[in-house]
Amino acid sequence: MNKPQGKLVILSGPSGAGKSTVVQLLLEACPLPLVLSVSATTRPPRPGEIDGVHYHFLSKDVFQSRRAAGDFLECREVFRCGHWYGTLRSEAMAGLAAGKWVILEIDVEGAADVLKQMPEAITLFLHAGTMEELEQRLRLRRTETETSIARRLEVARREMAFADQYQYEIINASAPQAADTICTILKRSGD
Ligand code: 5GP
Repeated sequence: MNKPQGKLVILSGPSGAGKSTVVQLLLEACPLPLVLSVSATTRPPRPGEIDGVHYHFLSKDVFQSRRAAGDFLECREVFRCGHWYGTLRSEAMAGLAAGKWVILEIDVEGAADVLKQMPEAITLFLHAGTMEELEQRLRLRRTETETSIARRLEVARREMAFADQYQYEIINASAPQAADTICTILKRSGD
């Protein structure tokens, strides 16, 4: 008997919208066989981030040679500041082949690239509500410089314009509630 094929779930939303927290809660609390595809990036790790868990942290050279080798399903220079992010084919495909629901937590342009190749993906857009709420969250993180906050807010403004291209829009007023809403949406889409 063939193994059941998994499903691809794309989660996007402005930086600071709380995607990582919501994904962690989703993985812990949702009964579906969810896994997070660990992306690769050339940005340096933040305090507490672990290589292979939060990201595969790659040097620019290694990233570009893997890009040339076709190892990425999609990859982008997300903030136009020299840092690349990408979904490794090996990460996403291994999960799908094992019948898992593979979550890609990626930006709007990367999401559009993946959808061209896998239009059956379920698409979710998570955001903090207003731009003021987003700015407050970025500041509370205390990991960003003023320049970085300004750049992320500018990108967020642009990203918000993509919200209506997603199947579902979720406002992250509370992370457990947002995770619960997403779990319900996913369970319904599996029927
Ligand atoms: P951060 O630096 O805060 O971890 O992530 C910054 C942004 O990069 C987030 O909005 C996130 O969605 C996006 N991102 C993370 N991994 C990937 C990826 O593999 N591909 C793309 N296109 N974007 C990603």
